[in-house]
Amino acid sequence: MGKALDRSALAAYAKARIRAAHDIQQWHHPDRFGLCACGRPRPCTVAAACLTTIARYQATLALTDTTMPMPTITPRKTTSGAADDRPPSA
Ligand SMILES: [Zn+2]
Repeated sequence: MGKALDRSALAAYAKARIRAAHDIQQWHHPDRFGLCACGRPRPCTVAAACLTTIARYQATLALTDTTMPMPTITPRKTTSGAADDRPPSA
């Protein structure tokens, strides 16, 4: 039986699997005569497997990896006192 992965090892594994799926997927795109670039009829089973792998490990990363901190946006008040819904200008 294999050794259990800790959180950071699992995240690294998931990122590696996603990267590998993207590498494989670049060779599977729509080509001439309605076929995949690999010669299989579309939808290509390899491309579908890559998409499934990417979705699976993105879900793993969502549970295990830290997410990006988002800026806090507070509503601005106009001179009339009403909230200004416009996004802050850059
Ligand atoms: Zn293909």
